[in-house]
Amino acid sequence: VHAGEATYPVEIGENVLLSLPSRVASLTPAVTSVFYIVDKAVYDQYEGRIKEHVPNHQHVFWHVIPAGEAAKTFDVYQQCLGAALEAGLDRHSLIIACGGGATGDLAGFVSATYMRGIRFIQLPTTILAHDSAVGGKVAINHPLGKNMVGSFHQPSAVLYDLSFLRTLPIKEVRSGFAEVIKHALIADPAFLEELMKNLSTLEDIEPSFLAYCLKKGVQIKSEIVRQDERETGVRAYLNFGHTYGHAIEAAAGYGKWTHGEAIMVGVVYALYISKQVNHCDFNVSLFIDWIQRLGYTLSIPEELSFTKLYDRMAQDKKTIANEIRFVLLEETGVPHLKKVTKELLEEADRFIRQ
Ligand code: NAD
Ligand code: ZN
Repeated sequence: VHAGEATYPVEIGENVLLSLPSRVASLTPAVTSVFYIVDKAVYDQYEGRIKEHVPNHQHVFWHVIPAGEAAKTFDVYQQCLGAALEAGLDRHSLIIACGGGATGDLAGFVSATYMRGIRFIQLPTTILAHDSAVGGKVAINHPLGKNMVGSFHQPSAVLYDLSFLRTLPIKEVRSGFAEVIKHALIADPAFLEELMKNLSTLEDIEPSFLAYCLKKGVQIKSEIVRQDERETGVRAYLNFGHTYGHAIEAAAGYGKWTHGEAIMVGVVYALYISKQVNHCDFNVSLFIDWIQRLGYTLSIPEELSFTKLYDRMAQDKKTIANEIRFVLLEETGVPHLKKVTKELLEEADRFIRQ
């Protein structure tokens, strides 16, 4: 990945954890101490395996954080800083984040801010993390808004060991695959075709196909980040499906929907609007049939009224001066950003509910 001044490797495969010690040893300046931040659920299942491949180092510290999104709080952030200070981490220390996107975001933010920034390595353990571990956006949540306190801080390496994924619950597989499908839609029509042809279930995906999909997803994400690290332009395309999807997540209350399952509804919503605005020849019904076979739902509970979702969409970070802007497709692989009227947003909302 090339992002701004930074360049770093992303290794994807079974057992890439084995290369962690040599990766750490090759960093310059030399690493003085290593501080692991590990998701509790991952630590409980994989403590032995993770500890087998620890960098060959005198000073290694362990800090286990609450599983999942509960880690992205001011409290947990402060506890991490406290533990890092007590451990005596200095500016040449290294943080290693091991977990899903939540762990990566928190540990990345700790790394970005501890002594004004120290290095970190990502060991992602979810499918969604093919997206979150690459690109350097790190953040915690504020009680008033998700990811509202953060920074850009690129990792020194991403080691994506796919053997962690075997224990991932199916809902989390679905959540992560929504971002793979999103990446295909915005950047790679041939990959989308392959996915639609070869993927008829998300249970027991053939390991080499899974590795291929994650590699494709990482390549698409990293190419966009290379062009626009700080989201002043094309990086916004990664938000495809996220305006309506985030509105569902937020209005339902975080945790009710997994991120990707909400985003998939947003993807269909944005596809519908793209068709109305751009008259692209994309077959939305075929796409809907396919994702429903994969277990995604388009049923939005009635209490999440259009008005509620609209209010949330108006708070989206792409909204400028009250104009809601959407990432739309001119055709698959060709995204653009466009203002959408309230009438069309409401029409698309009716389409989803029907
Ligand atoms: P997550 O980190 O919350 O993990 C999901 C659940 O799976 C958690 O309960 C976790 O404990 C569990 N888990 C993790 N690995 C496991 C494994 N190998 N086996 C069994 N269980 C495992 O969720 P996520 O979907 O990975 O990431 C979502 C987060 O990522 C959100 O906070 C979102 O804001 C963030 N995100 C960040 C970016 C970015 O660019 N920084 C991009 C997308 C999403
Ligand atoms: Zn997302």
